[in-house]
Amino acid sequence: MASNRRLISAGDRFGRYTVVSNGAPDRHRKRRWICVCDCGAIRSVTTGDLAKGTMSCGCFSREVTRSLFTTHGMSKTREYKIWKAIKTRCFNENDRSYARYGGAGVTICDQWKNSFESFISYIGAAPSSGHSIDRYPNLFGNYEPGNIRWATDKEQSLNRRNVIWIEHKGETLCAKDWARRIGMDNSLLCKLIKKQVPEEVLARLIAKRGLTKQWQPNQ
Ligand SMILES: [Zn+2]
Repeated sequence: MASNRRLISAGDRFGRYTVVSNGAPDRHRKRRWICVCDCGAIRSVTTGDLAKGTMSCGCFSREVTRSLFTTHGMSKTREYKIWKAIKTRCFNENDRSYARYGGAGVTICDQWKNSFESFISYIGAAPSSGHSIDRYPNLFGNYEPGNIRWATDKEQSLNRRNVIWIEHKGETLCAKDWARRIGMDNSLLCKLIKKQVPEEVLARLIAKRGLTKQWQPNQ
């Protein structure tokens, strides 16, 4: 990427960061830069992070959060942690849940990704500490306007059990079983049915690829 090739040198500024020196590469052999933040924090930052627009040690979003919670009179920052966790699941390949989220094509809309304030002003505060964010009504959809809600664990498991059932020529199976039957990756099928009519997607796929003969339920 052109932005990664941009020459970075001491004295350059990225938001609140000022580049101080070239740091040692990390264990992924990514080039790192020692940066000092306007707040005084010193951090080792990758070229990629700078190119992606990392602008501070985190003090900026902490300030936004603090002012938001002060404004709203909220004492806890659970919502902020939840927002961070969503982003981790969607973008951090090292996260345990990444395969089921980012790896399966799930993302968070840019506006929320880049702004906790924007996210929290859409969804509002959690109704209770027993609520977390659920993708609803489309369990396979993205974290985006119209597809998230605060839900209790009970509501969430109901949503999860409420998997997508797809009918084809009189046979009804859940998306996961259809994926096995077509012989394709489940996360890919989910990606395809996310924004189209599942029955139509399935019919097209079966016409194109056929069905696996030796398929058995609960394989
Ligand atoms: Zn800072």
